[in-house]
Amino acid sequence: TETLPTVPHHLSIPQFFLDFEGNERLVNNGQPVRGLEPNPWLIEEKTGRKIALNETRSRSFWLANAMSIRYNIGSCTLIVLIIIDTHKDYPLAIWAIHRLGGIVSGANPDFVSNELLYQIQICNAKLILVHPDALETAVMAAHSAGMTLDRVVVFDVDSKIAPKGFQSVSSLIREGLDHPISFVEPKIDARTKLAFLSFSSGTTGKPKAVAIPHFSVIINVIQMAIHFQVFQDYAPWRERRFRPGDVAIGVLPLYHIYGLVLNLHFILYSRMSLILMEKFNFVQMLKNIERYRISHLMLVPPHIVLFCKQAKLLQYYDLDSIRFIMVGAAPLSNEVNNQIFKIFPEAQIGQAYGMTETCTSVAAFPITEKRGTAGSAGLLEPGVRARILKEDGSFGTYDEPGELCIWSPSNALGYYNNQEATRETFMDGWVRTGDEAKIDRNLEIWIMDRMKEIMKVRGFQVAPAELEGCILDHPDVNDACVVGVPDDYSGEVPLAFVVLEEEAAKRAQKNQEESAKVKASIQKHVSDNKIYYKRLAGGVEIVSTIPKNPSGKLLRRVLREKAKALKKATARL
Ligand code: AMP
Repeated sequence: TETLPTVPHHLSIPQFFLDFEGNERLVNNGQPVRGLEPNPWLIEEKTGRKIALNETRSRSFWLANAMSIRYNIGSCTLIVLIIIDTHKDYPLAIWAIHRLGGIVSGANPDFVSNELLYQIQICNAKLILVHPDALETAVMAAHSAGMTLDRVVVFDVDSKIAPKGFQSVSSLIREGLDHPISFVEPKIDARTKLAFLSFSSGTTGKPKAVAIPHFSVIINVIQMAIHFQVFQDYAPWRERRFRPGDVAIGVLPLYHIYGLVLNLHFILYSRMSLILMEKFNFVQMLKNIERYRISHLMLVPPHIVLFCKQAKLLQYYDLDSIRFIMVGAAPLSNEVNNQIFKIFPEAQIGQAYGMTETCTSVAAFPITEKRGTAGSAGLLEPGVRARILKEDGSFGTYDEPGELCIWSPSNALGYYNNQEATRETFMDGWVRTGDEAKIDRNLEIWIMDRMKEIMKVRGFQVAPAELEGCILDHPDVNDACVVGVPDDYSGEVPLAFVVLEEEAAKRAQKNQEESAKVKASIQKHVSDNKIYYKRLAGGVEIVSTIPKNPSGKLLRRVLREKAKALKKATARL
């Protein structure tokens, strides 16, 4: 596909996105591909206050200053866990940590403490920034990881005051302002210097930290900008999809790569304004669209389902400002796709496809079309190469199905501290996606199925291996296999096949009531130990054995088919 402009390798993310003076301007066929003009704003959701990027930039310097003084980083790399969906101070915290040469790992604030502990340990995080509502869980996790509590900092949410003994982000910013700047930004090679450790399970096993360098984010934003012709300023104003002054809403959590790279960095880079919604709520989003004349939405399929299911509600809001809707992170069914087209007849709507390991999007619907074709995951973006790996190990040609493999300059470096998993998924710079797909002659990608283990529940990854480990801790269970079953709203939900331990099996065999009790107890065990979207909403099925191949590997496909059949049978009843 199209070649990319040369991008310097010495700039960190904040240097590339925020510092202009003194840095060279990149040029692509005469069109500037970098340089935020004064337009971009972060807009505070509740007050409508516009926060100029320069203000955020200064505050991020002060935060970095306070962190460098207080946490005495020395020569260690500061690895910081940020536990919050979104917040106006989230971007500045990221950029502060990057200016110190540190690495950010985002976590879901609804995680239970063992999930946070797992992430702290895999990343070796030494500082936590957390939403006040998740403080208790974060403290438990930090304690188990041997971290001292002065290493837990609280975001300022509404007028909640940080509990005694804890610093808040704003108090650190003030502290940084009161002291002369005492840190020096390290010289980096952006291709290898890590910026983010974002969690993904890849094709198999438990969640792993994807090692994302600064360059991956910068280049993916540029790839998107070229794909969507963001800087084609010569086109007539009415026809331009991205115009300085357009307003996007950020409903995607910034701990997920889609929110982080596209909803935040790409939107600001495109000289647009951004409202970060602290907690997703459909009605509140509609109110915000009306109030702030939102033009651009970046969403996941469950959001689109909400638009379709709550269509009656839409008449109460003025949604005419919407011109662009991008949907990604999970498959969008053709029916829902066609419904959303009808709801917004004038807007440009289509899918994007990517994964954490490719540091976000590698395909997106064509800018030249008003609508992406239903079922298509988009056209390959500039600089991306794709291959179809067939079951016999050979490469497929156009329209032949097989495993999609991607080479993109944005590809991550591998899994952090996990060479074995890296070898399985990253091959000579190529990423094995674990998605079954075909590519047509227009270079459009059609995702047909998911070959890898993960489920996508409401756009979130759920790793069966993680849930199986949890279920095996239940005293009644001898063996388990978790698969996804289709669900209208969530896309899919986890269902567990379990082999019961002898006593429990006898109880369950007695009658339906006893069997239901055993199943409910297993479901409760998962709900007690995992975040809400990982609960076994697809149910529990008792079986006598879990099918495995001679080397002991679970035959998931067999159980996935069985689960689908069960779901169909129950739907018929
Ligand atoms: P994540 O790393 O959480 O972004 O998950 C990446 C996975 O989400 C991909 O490998 C696909 O299985 C799925 N995915 C992302 N975008 C799409 C899409 N447009 N259509 C179908 N599946 C998608």
